[in-house]
Amino acid sequence: MQMSGDIAEVIVNISVDALDRAFEYRIPDSLTSRITEGTPVAIPFGKGDREITGYVVRIKDDSEWDRDRLKTILRVEEGDIPVEGQLLSLAAWIREHYGSTMNEAIRTVLPIRERVKSVEEHWLNFVISEEEAEVRAEEAEAKHHIAKARLIRGLLQDKVLSTRVARERYKATKSVIDSLVKAGVIEVVDERIERRPEEISETPENRREPVELTDEQQEAVRTFLSDYEAGETHTYLLYGVTGSGKTEVYMEMLRRVIDDGRQAIVLIPEISLTHQTVERFAAQFGDRVTVLHSRMSAGERYDQFMRAKNHEVDIVVGPRSALFVPFDRLGLIVMDEEHDGSYQSDKTPTYHAREVAIRRAAGAGASVVLGSATPSVESYREAIEGRYRMLRLRGRATGASLPRVHVVDLRKELEAKNHSIFSRLLAQKIEERLASGEQTMLFINRRGYAGFVSCRSCGYVIKCPHCDVSMTEHGRRSHPHLVCHYCGHTEPMPQTCPSCGSGFIASFGLGTEQVCEMVAARFPTARVLRMDADTTKNKGGHERVLAPFRKEQADILVGTQMIVKGHDLPKVTLVGAIAADLSMFQSDYTSYEKTFALLMQAGGRAGRADLPGEFVIQTYQPESYCIEAIRKNDPDAYYEQELSYRRLTGYPPFQSMLKILVSSENLKMAEELAERVATEIDRLALPEVTRIGPAPDRLSFIKDRHRIALFIKSKDPKHIDRIIKTIENDTSLEPLMRHCFISYGRSPQ
Ligand code: ADP
Ligand code: ZN
Ligand code: ZN
Repeated sequence: MQMSGDIAEVIVNISVDALDRAFEYRIPDSLTSRITEGTPVAIPFGKGDREITGYVVRIKDDSEWDRDRLKTILRVEEGDIPVEGQLLSLAAWIREHYGSTMNEAIRTVLPIRERVKSVEEHWLNFVISEEEAEVRAEEAEAKHHIAKARLIRGLLQDKVLSTRVARERYKATKSVIDSLVKAGVIEVVDERIERRPEEISETPENRREPVELTDEQQEAVRTFLSDYEAGETHTYLLYGVTGSGKTEVYMEMLRRVIDDGRQAIVLIPEISLTHQTVERFAAQFGDRVTVLHSRMSAGERYDQFMRAKNHEVDIVVGPRSALFVPFDRLGLIVMDEEHDGSYQSDKTPTYHAREVAIRRAAGAGASVVLGSATPSVESYREAIEGRYRMLRLRGRATGASLPRVHVVDLRKELEAKNHSIFSRLLAQKIEERLASGEQTMLFINRRGYAGFVSCRSCGYVIKCPHCDVSMTEHGRRSHPHLVCHYCGHTEPMPQTCPSCGSGFIASFGLGTEQVCEMVAARFPTARVLRMDADTTKNKGGHERVLAPFRKEQADILVGTQMIVKGHDLPKVTLVGAIAADLSMFQSDYTSYEKTFALLMQAGGRAGRADLPGEFVIQTYQPESYCIEAIRKNDPDAYYEQELSYRRLTGYPPFQSMLKILVSSENLKMAEELAERVATEIDRLALPEVTRIGPAPDRLSFIKDRHRIALFIKSKDPKHIDRIIKTIENDTSLEPLMRHCFISYGRSPQ
């Protein structure tokens, strides 16, 4: 008799390293009600049915194996579901939803598996006074005990020494140390050194009392708290304009949750993980908060994970990977700037942190607070339709007004014979700031392309014939030519526009460096700073640029999208978007969404304190709904337009979308595999599933690999799961898989 849900997939708890798959077991009737995903169980394993423990990661009713030959779960291990169980069942979901092996999924959720030894240091101290030590040093020197004398003098100089430093700097061998210990000169103390992130280590002087919340902030906190107190968990969207004080709202919520003995994860885009942000949390929560970021060593990260596991901290602040901190009493996940692209993993499994956060919170009985001034279209819809709770902040916390927006039509500039990258209006506004001693930020929206060449008359963009990406100008002084940054294709710089014949063809989005040069040429008195990947790549790089700007040692900050994120700079009263259109040229259904978010965030940097702000947008498409909504300061109008466009065209969030990318050095094999995949999908005969492709990917040849893409759209997300599973399990594809690689990109929904 076939019963529903009587088979469990179990991850065995031997050494996680060795596991690449889950093993199937039968759930005996007596345990049905007690077993869910994450439950620890005892099972017979291997030859001789040795009893071991494992975690149930999935319950199902079908098996590819003969069900009568499956072994049976012995019993449920007592106690709460441990955090590893929760994370492993999260891994099982990730594998299924985003497509990967179990091993890749486990690696994602248990990122730090092998113990990175915490540093055990032994410290040397004098047990005698320094005067006495001086005498001992002289005695040793008189007896030509050079090594002993050297160590005593070293210790006199450094006061304390670790054995490691004693060895490296003063060449002290173990026998030298031992003999000084015996002679009653020094002692050795053991101490476990906690590798603490520098941001957290010392901030007592920053300790700060909470601010008094505005009415809107209080209302948001109240809504959350009354649910929390009633034991309800939800996903909230804290939709608050730039400068509305979202961080203060998070902190109030966090305080309540940790006072309750529970734990919280605060996700922040990697790029916003600056000293300033971390300090705000440290100032509130002291050493109950810690931080993770990609510049930390494996050891530092391991220590912070262990501190979290041992309940030494209540809050972890970090990028998307902080989602997998082993908290066992998780109460809240905050996701700041929830629209940010860095929440999408670009490695297999290509998970989206928002979806995983909601999934993890559900397993842990926790809530999720998503915050943004420009929510993702998906989250906006969820909130509007009531599946998320909407918390809105319409005003700035400091009482400052939102910046005044000016939209400049660049085609009109050209008609007026202005060929500069500064429109007349922007130039005039910059002059005004220079005269009044206020600051300006100039933003060049490049979204990964290092610049492009376009026609100033008609807007035509020159693209690589092989890749369908825009080309970048090189060798301006010596021999101007165009290079494709993806495949290396080059061609001479054309003299006229291939589309309309106009002579005004030029490199646009010149890169921050050249913009700085142009600022210097146009505004010779201005002091200019540049902030981009090049000027910030070293540790503390962001602060090295921002600190002098904050101290008003510069008038103009030129930068990439890096400058639009989260910084609070009270003297900035003018923000200029030099080329607002750049990200609109991407042939991706999210390009308007990205442009909208970037421009709104950029404008949000202006006039955050007492001085009113202005925002100048230079564009070739002033009439687009995205620019219009910003000009009118009516973001809801943008979302409405975007949603109706997505509904009409069948894009997420209205349909699930999966990109299957087949890549190979061998084009024929990639094509063949892609065709086979298409056939397999068709054979499933799933209703209302649209397949587009196989066709060469937008980036059809990258790093010597041909790329063929298929896009699948479906109203039912389960069909997408089914397709992933079918391809993953299709053994007939294996011969081709030896020469090809398949990756999945599932759009967040
Ligand atoms: P957001 O993240 O929404 O852009 P922040 O939390 O960074 O906003 O707050 C913007 C500025 O307003 C910060 O300098 C913050 O200290 C200040 N602020 C926030 N809430 C209040 C408040 N209730 N009273 C006074 N200042 C506040
Ligand atoms: Zn043209
Ligand atoms: Zn190319």
